[in-house]
Amino acid sequence: MESNFSKVIDSYEVKTLLHSFYSLMGIKCLIKYREKTFYKHPEFRPLTDFGFKKYDENIVKQIKENRKYGIFKSKTGLMYFGVPIYIDNNTVAIMFTSPILYQKLNLKYLSGEISDFKAHQNDIVDVVKHIPCFSKEVIAKIIEYFCNISYIINKNIRTYSKYSELLESKKRLESNYNTMVKMAYYDELTGLGNCNYLKTEMKKSIESYPERSFILFHVELSNFKNVNDILGYKYGDRLLQKIGNTIRKLYSNDIVSRNYGNEFLILKKLENHKINLHTEAKYLLHSLCDVWDLDDIEVPISVSIGMTVYPKDGKDATVMMRNADIALNKAKSNGKNSYIMFENYMYDEILIKSEMEKELRKAIKNEEFELYYQPQVEVCNNKVVGFEALIRWNSSKLGWVMPGEFISLAEETGIITSIGEWVFEKACFQIMQWKNKGYDYDFISINVSPVQIRKNGFVDMIKRVIKKTGVDTNLIELEITESVVMESLERSCGVIDELKRMGIRIALDDFGSGYSSLNYLKSLPINTIKIDKTFIDGICKYSYENIIVDSIINLAHIMKLDVVAEGVESEEQFISLREKRCNKIQGYYFGKPMPCKEAEKMLEFTSLR
Ligand code: C2E
Ligand code: CA
Ligand code: CA
Repeated sequence: MESNFSKVIDSYEVKTLLHSFYSLMGIKCLIKYREKTFYKHPEFRPLTDFGFKKYDENIVKQIKENRKYGIFKSKTGLMYFGVPIYIDNNTVAIMFTSPILYQKLNLKYLSGEISDFKAHQNDIVDVVKHIPCFSKEVIAKIIEYFCNISYIINKNIRTYSKYSELLESKKRLESNYNTMVKMAYYDELTGLGNCNYLKTEMKKSIESYPERSFILFHVELSNFKNVNDILGYKYGDRLLQKIGNTIRKLYSNDIVSRNYGNEFLILKKLENHKINLHTEAKYLLHSLCDVWDLDDIEVPISVSIGMTVYPKDGKDATVMMRNADIALNKAKSNGKNSYIMFENYMYDEILIKSEMEKELRKAIKNEEFELYYQPQVEVCNNKVVGFEALIRWNSSKLGWVMPGEFISLAEETGIITSIGEWVFEKACFQIMQWKNKGYDYDFISINVSPVQIRKNGFVDMIKRVIKKTGVDTNLIELEITESVVMESLERSCGVIDELKRMGIRIALDDFGSGYSSLNYLKSLPINTIKIDKTFIDGICKYSYENIIVDSIINLAHIMKLDVVAEGVESEEQFISLREKRCNKIQGYYFGKPMPCKEAEKMLEFTSLR
C-alpha cells in the first residue's frame, strides 16, 4: 500500500494541484505519513511554517474524533489545518497546510506565544507579515477545498488505475477552486478587489516593472462605526458602496481595493514624476471627507490616510502594505481628517516599542521597578506633610526608562493592571513601615491609571491589598485624572464613593490639562485637586494662567477642597502660590522624586521638628 500511496502523492496531478494552490493562495502543504514527512512543498520551512508536534498531535486527535479535518487556531490569529488520508479506513497520513492568518494579526499575543515559535520576536514578526491573510468565509472555502483534495487522494489510492472515476471529482474540485479564488480576491459588497487582490497586483507590478514608481494609499473612515451602531448595517453597507464607487471613479486607471471593514487601499502609478504627493493626498481627503447622503439621511464622514512610495520606502509588497498601515496609524493619532507620508523612523519606533513591551512584561518578575517619593509641602509652614509615589523602571536591557515613556504603552497593552497592583501594594507596605517607625505625615498619594479604574475588579484589588498589608486607609490618597471621570461620570462616582467609604482620599490629578470644568467638580466626591504644571509655569507673569490659578484656588476652597500646585520650580512661584493661599506645593523647588531611603531621612527630620 505504501508504494501506491507514494505513487499517488508523487503523481503529476496531485503535485500540480498542490503547487497551483500555493501560487494562488500562498499556502504550502506538508504530508506526514507514519511519523515521517512524506511530501513537503519545496519552500516549506519547518520553523516558521510550523509542523510543531504538539499542535499537529492536536489536529490528529480532532480527525480521530471523526471529523473531516482538524484545525489549530492561536490567539495571535494564526491557524493551520490538517486533513486525513486513509488506507482501508485507517488514517495513515495527514496533509497539513502552512499557517494562514485569520483576518488580522493580533501582535498583542505574539510575545505570549513566542516561546512556541522558538525564534526571536522580530524575526517572527517579519515572517508572520508574509503569511497570507483571509476572511472567515474564504477560510471556510479553503477548508472545503482541502477536504476535497484529501478526498481525491483517498480515491486515487483506492482506484489507482481507474482514472475515469476521478474525472467527476476533479470537476468538482475545479469549480470549488474557482469560487474560492473569486472569494479570496474580491469584495462582494463593493465589487472592488480585496486586499489580497491589491497585494497580488502590487507583487506583479514590482516583478514586471521594478523601476516603476507608485504610491500606496491606505484610507480609513474614522467614524464609520457610529454609522453601523446608530443607523444599522444596512446604512453602513450603503455608505461603503458609495465611497467605494467614488474611489473607483477617482482612480479609474489605478488599482483600488477594500481592505477590512472601513478601510480602502489605492495603488496609483507615478508615471509623472512631477506629481505633488501632498496635493494628491489633499485631493483624496477632500473628496471623501464629506457629508454623504444615504436615502435622505446625511452622514458626515472623516478619513485618515497613510501613504508610502515605491521604491523609496520599500522594495516589496509586504513591506509596502506594512508602511502604509504604519503611516495610517500615525495619521489616526494626529486626529481626524489628516494624512501622513511614511518615514523610516516610524518603523524604528514600532521596533523600539515592541522591544519595550517585551521587557515591560518581564519587569515585575525581574524586580526592575522601584517607587520614588516626591515631597508635598504645606505652604503655610514649609512642612513636608506627605509624598507622591512615582514609579521608576531600571530595565536590565534598556536602562532607566521614565514613566512618561512606558506608562502609555503599559496602558495600551493592559500591562498597567499588574503594574498598578504592584505600585499600590509596594506603596501600602511603605506606608505601614513608616507608620510603624512613628513618622508624622498626612498621607501618601498613589497614581492610578484610567485603564485600571475602567476594569472590573479594581476595587477588589484595592481591598485585597489593604487586607494583605494591613495598611491604615486614612494614610492613602489615590490620584485619578479627570479624563476617567469625564468618560463615565456615573461609574467613576460609584467607584470613588466605594473607595471613600473605605476611608481612602481621592485627588483629581493634572487639573486644568483636559476638560476641566469646576462645574462638574460639584458632583464629584473628591478631596483634593492638583493644579497641572502648565498653569504653574505661567503664574508669575500677569497672565491668563495667573488669573485662572487664582480662581481655581478660590473656588476649590469654597467647595472645601485641598489644592496642591504641581511642578513648582522657583521661589517666585512659591511666593505667588502662598499669596493665593494654595494649601500645598509639590515640585523641584522643594524636592525631586527620590528613593525611599532619602524620603525617609526627610520624614525623620520633619518628625523631629
Ligand atoms: P504626574 O502624576 O503628573 O506626576 C508628576 C510628574 O511631574 C512626575 O513625573 C514628577 O517627577 C514631575 N515633576 C514634579 N515636580 C516637577 C517640577 O518641578 N518640574 C518638572 N519639570 N517636573 C516635575 P514622572 O515621575 O516622570 O511621572 C510622569 C507621569 O507618569 C506622572 O505624572 C503619572 O501620570 C505617570 N506615573 C508615574 N508613576 C506612576 C504610577 O505609579 N502609576 C501610574 N498609573 N502612573 C504613574
Ligand atoms: Ca500624579
Ligand atoms: Ca499631575
